[in-house]
Amino acid sequence: MSRSDERLRPFREGLEAIEAGGGRRVLWNIQSREGKHLTVNGRRLIDLSSNDYLGLASDAETAREFFTRLAEAPLSRRSMGSGASRLLSGNSAGYADLEAEISSAYGGRAALVFASGYHANTGIIPALVEKGDIILSDRLNHASIIDGARLSGAERAVFGHRDYDEAEAILSTRRAKSRRALIATESIFSMDGDAADLSRLAEIARRYDALLYVDEAHAVGVFGERGLGLCIRNLSEEGADVIVGTFGKALGGHGAFAVTDPVIRDWIINRCRTFIFSTALPPAILEWNRFAFNRMQQMNEHRRRLLENAAALRRAVIEAGFDAPGASQILPVILGGNHRAVRAAEILREEGYFVLPIRPPTVPEGSARLRLSLRSDIDLDEVLAIPQALKRVL
Ligand code: PMP
Repeated sequence: MSRSDERLRPFREGLEAIEAGGGRRVLWNIQSREGKHLTVNGRRLIDLSSNDYLGLASDAETAREFFTRLAEAPLSRRSMGSGASRLLSGNSAGYADLEAEISSAYGGRAALVFASGYHANTGIIPALVEKGDIILSDRLNHASIIDGARLSGAERAVFGHRDYDEAEAILSTRRAKSRRALIATESIFSMDGDAADLSRLAEIARRYDALLYVDEAHAVGVFGERGLGLCIRNLSEEGADVIVGTFGKALGGHGAFAVTDPVIRDWIINRCRTFIFSTALPPAILEWNRFAFNRMQQMNEHRRRLLENAAALRRAVIEAGFDAPGASQILPVILGGNHRAVRAAEILREEGYFVLPIRPPTVPEGSARLRLSLRSDIDLDEVLAIPQALKRVL
């Protein structure tokens, strides 16, 4: 065995172990995408594994409208490279426009756009807390929140999923020993499709003098007045200190935004490493994000249909004997073992749906699942065959 082969051995063996456990991940080549359909391995399937909840990323008519408009814009608004970070010359005019519109939608609070949700969570959290501080994090928070917490150097206290009594108990014993405290949660949980109790969290945060950080990646576009997420309800009272929304999901674009106090916005610009040390988004993407942010707010009818269909499919899946928790456009079908989830996804692909198994470490050990991600352009009768098909794995 050559020296280089020897160096690869741990990785090869690691992959074999992952394969044996049913956890190997592979990239699927999505040959084409058109609305709710995509073509993979030459087969046209209904896409149930995207976060394109409103169909904005894949609707041909919307794209035509946008690109016609974009073609008339000056190059500085439609180029595909920003050339520098935002603190250098990459802060193109589209940022100010986009942030002004986000700010106005969120009642005048300050807005700051990021390169992605991952940049936002791994950057903002370490900018807000550090060694000597404490972060309380829901056990099912997204990897980017977990990584942000790890990078911060603050003490990490994980509370059970939506177990706010536990969060409070932790604060009551440890808050006094920490300088600052931050509570981090998703509003709609990405893999479970259920919602955090934001009023309760805001109340706890207030009582323990903690900052409340809410990732609305899966709520923006789908929930709340004008699709602005679940925090908007408490915006005028003391609600979340930082709201993060993403453009890559229901808005069909790329990037993320934070809505917060102007002081925190300024602090982030000065202290957030993922903001400071990464190239700004391309102007063309900013134009799309602004277009989609406006369009999305007008899509109440799409939101209603999406949530109605998701609720009806959830009921049918539960009636077929499955555990399908949550109450949103994200419909998890909990199957337990990896191999079972892999098989169930295969069955649904045979039936014409593009569905992939979700396995640890994305979800806790023993809770492998399918994550059926509904879209507003899917009719209920196109998915009602799913519960019956799933019975083949029971
Ligand atoms: N937060 C949550 C809850 C997410 O699900 C994701 C994406 N899966 C992110 C943040 C990261 O956002 P982005 O894809 O824009 O990096």
